[in-house]
Amino acid sequence: MRVLLVEDDPMIGTAVHGALKDAAYAADWVRDGRVALDTLAIQHYDLVLLDLGLPGQDGLEVLAAIRARRDPVPLLVITARDGLDARLRGLDGGADDYLVKPFAMAELLARMRAVLRRKGGQATPRLGNGLLWLDPATHEAGAGEAPAVPLSQREFALLHALLVRPGAILSRSELEDRIYGWGEEVESNAVEYLIHALRRKLGADAIRNVRGVGWMVAKGG
Ligand code: CA
Repeated sequence: MRVLLVEDDPMIGTAVHGALKDAAYAADWVRDGRVALDTLAIQHYDLVLLDLGLPGQDGLEVLAAIRARRDPVPLLVITARDGLDARLRGLDGGADDYLVKPFAMAELLARMRAVLRRKGGQATPRLGNGLLWLDPATHEAGAGEAPAVPLSQREFALLHALLVRPGAILSRSELEDRIYGWGEEVESNAVEYLIHALRRKLGADAIRNVRGVGWMVAKGG
């Protein structure tokens, strides 16, 4: 999952960016609305965290510009304003949820999971395709009735990318995109290595290779 953090406060930005990376998100951090809009135009994101109090362009204007493009990206507003008005304007402007500063990282991460679940039309906390399941809160996975196994951050990020859309084939660069944020070094063969590790934990058939195209998990089981 790739997340764009739009936050001008260096302390909050550093803390949230770190927490996102610790939670296995590929996270990119920008400090103003203009850069956020430019970035969203060229890069796929699974979720946006948007501070409302931004220099230059206000967060609500950035939100309006995103929705005016008919970009449906899940979006969570982060605001220091405790005023009801700003929160309501955010929700009415197309935000999927909001969080008032100061907040606990655990709550931010839980709200992100909830927004992603709702936007993905998912009724249960676990992702699955009938053969495999993955729990975004605990980063555990399992094959069928086999016991749950813990995944490393990057194993989780890769399997999550595939299980969000069973049956869809993701190329190496699409997978790398969802695993690594800006400035994170992509080791060569990292994708193959992670898939090897996941197959060892979940069974050889857990992830299928489509020769020359990419990888997928089966649709339905
Ligand atoms: Ca701010």
